[in-house]
Amino acid sequence: MKVGIVGAGMVGSSAGYALALMGIASEIVLVDQNSALALAQAEDIAHAVPFMSSTVVNAGGYRDLEGCGVVILAAGVSQKPGETRLELLGRNALVFHAVLREVLPVVPDAIFLIASNPVDIMTQITTRLSGIAPQRVIGSGTILDTARFRSLVGRHLGISPQSVHAYVLGEHGDSEVLAWSAARAGSVALSSFAAQVGSPLTETVRAGIDDGVRNAAYKIIKGKGSTYYGIGAGLARIVKAIGGDQRDVLTVSIATPEVAGVNDVALSIPRVVGAGGVVVDLFPDLEEAEYLALNRSASLLKQQADAVSI
Ligand code: ADP
Repeated sequence: MKVGIVGAGMVGSSAGYALALMGIASEIVLVDQNSALALAQAEDIAHAVPFMSSTVVNAGGYRDLEGCGVVILAAGVSQKPGETRLELLGRNALVFHAVLREVLPVVPDAIFLIASNPVDIMTQITTRLSGIAPQRVIGSGTILDTARFRSLVGRHLGISPQSVHAYVLGEHGDSEVLAWSAARAGSVALSSFAAQVGSPLTETVRAGIDDGVRNAAYKIIKGKGSTYYGIGAGLARIVKAIGGDQRDVLTVSIATPEVAGVNDVALSIPRVVGAGGVVVDLFPDLEEAEYLALNRSASLLKQQADAVSI
């Protein structure tokens, strides 16, 4: 499958690198308003390809996106000193407005994968601006938070993350909800598994895992300024599910008619992802406190998305 990436900065190029190394895309086209950057990133990624796959990597203009099955939107601007989060959001909404005006006529049938932050709001805005069915406008959401949750639980229990089925719901950000009550290891409830292997999930252990998931990005940003390898691989994982019509259950964000009592909000819950984009939404059984936390997360996102005038 041909994959387009608009925004060849750190996140867009990391997604391109992951896609190329994993051989998920037959062709990748990188587009950026800074065409010299797009070209440099494409050449750098292309030099890695002979070691790993046969993906063709190019830079180009919007017209070169023709034929893409998936277009990743990773363009954006960074926060200016003194700028509020909402002002930044407004400027990023304008970037997406400009980008979509160019992209939509070229690839009206593509699936759009939103990477720019705040990803849930940008997903809602893209759905609103494009008029495309929500199932085809997918935000990376909590795909990374879910991976981190599984990895930390797996490490505590002494098993691989692939054997842990646990999900992070809601906002990709501070109000996200770790769905402990719905988590399983193998087919066993986490607390039961933990007791069987002699590694109880005490309050302290849970709080440590919660902190490790919720604050992972802050810690990375403190050390290196921004995060991109993890999300690059997460985006490649979503493209793989779409390209191979794999029907994987992934926590991704799309505009959803109702979640935890809140209408028309983009956030993450487990969803089946295949060739058509999101093909099924799944609503996990939650304990009351988790449901209330998800309601709070959804309400916050809805307020922010409604506050963007575009
Ligand atoms: P991140 O870490 O999120 O990837 P970057 O600043 O590294 O952030 O990348 C964002 C990229 O988006 C930059 O390369 C920038 O040139 C690009 N960009 C910003 N606005 C537009 C636009 N209107 N059209 C295309 N690309 C854009």
